[in-house]
Amino acid sequence: MHCLNVELGERSYPIVIGSQLLGDPQYLLPYIRGKQVCVVTNETVAPLYLERLLGGLADFGQVDTLVLPDGEAFKTLDTLERIFDCLLEKRHNRSTTLIALGGGVIGDMTGFAAACYQRGVDFVQIPTTLLAQVDSSVGGKTGVNHSLGKNMIGAFYQPRVVLADMDTLTTLPDRELSAGIAEVIKYGLICDAPFFSWLEEHMPKLMARDSQALAYAVDRCCRDKAAVVAEDERESARRAILNFGHTFGHAIEAVQGYGNWLHGEAVAAGMVMATELSRIRGAIDGEVVARIRALLAAAQLPQESPRGMTVGDYLEAMAVDKKVLDGRLRLVLLRSLGDAQICDDTPLEQLKEALKICGA
Ligand code: NAD
Ligand code: MG
Repeated sequence: MHCLNVELGERSYPIVIGSQLLGDPQYLLPYIRGKQVCVVTNETVAPLYLERLLGGLADFGQVDTLVLPDGEAFKTLDTLERIFDCLLEKRHNRSTTLIALGGGVIGDMTGFAAACYQRGVDFVQIPTTLLAQVDSSVGGKTGVNHSLGKNMIGAFYQPRVVLADMDTLTTLPDRELSAGIAEVIKYGLICDAPFFSWLEEHMPKLMARDSQALAYAVDRCCRDKAAVVAEDERESARRAILNFGHTFGHAIEAVQGYGNWLHGEAVAAGMVMATELSRIRGAIDGEVVARIRALLAAAQLPQESPRGMTVGDYLEAMAVDKKVLDGRLRLVLLRSLGDAQICDDTPLEQLKEALKICGA
């Protein structure tokens, strides 16, 4: 079992990473202050893990559950309203605790509901996708989508504890596992070269869902993200390196339509584009590019632009991306393997060349 503390003064909280955490009250009960909890999950995760979680709460006071429909399309204010309805109908008071059992969608929504309900109640994250374990566990971002933009309504709000149970990853669809691994690889690329080497050696174990290898990777990613976020809790310069590959990835998601490519798949192709651009700019050599591509391939992740998407499509989509400040395109590029920085002086010709190399 791994345990790390996210240091945020009085809002500090632990992340517990291991197996058989879900039904074990010792990991959960110390973080519940009142006599009420409400478990928020969805219709895919509930049949798999709800009973196990509730088993650990058998002797607890009032336990309510809310099973929401599955999907990013339901990460909305309307669904949030359903959470509030449930809490009010069941008379949850200010000392209640919300428990998010699910992937990033459930985590973001439940966290935001906790931030708003009666001006803020406790919440616990039990992320059940690799992506949620390595990304949403740290950083305190919660929220919902608006029809005019993803994650546009939200709050920074920290959980009391995060329980990342590797056993839940056994049922994750293959594509979702790979999509999570894309974000795992990202940490190696942007800030942790030794971890990148570890991944080169252990990728077969991760793909085989070896729980010890997964736990090590989740622990390492959470530590890396916590270190980056600690430098500035609310988005600014350094935190932006976490968006490595994401400007390109968002362009892919926007043009392909959300849902056709998983976020992690789009980020994987985007990381190759950012890597190729870093090489064109002279920061890294072809050998490093080949290693990065090989690692993505071992994780069964795409390295090419989606068929039919043109350079023009990227330029158009990237111009409206929120990473554009003052009309200058800000891109996260590699200075070397394991070291990313923000660049706002990329010549358009080099950008186009990188996109073409990736099949645009
Ligand atoms: P998701 O929550 O939609 O989960 C992906 C799919 O896997 C869903 O169908 C889900 O029901 C299913 N699933 C979840 N756990 C499962 C399990 N153990 N076994 C089988 N199926 C399971 O997507 P995600 O990739 O976890 O998260 C994406 C969301 O997270 C996005 O909305 C994104 O904005 C958000 N996000 C937030 C942060 C943050 O810092 N708060 C960071 C990254 C992403
Ligand atoms: Mg991401």
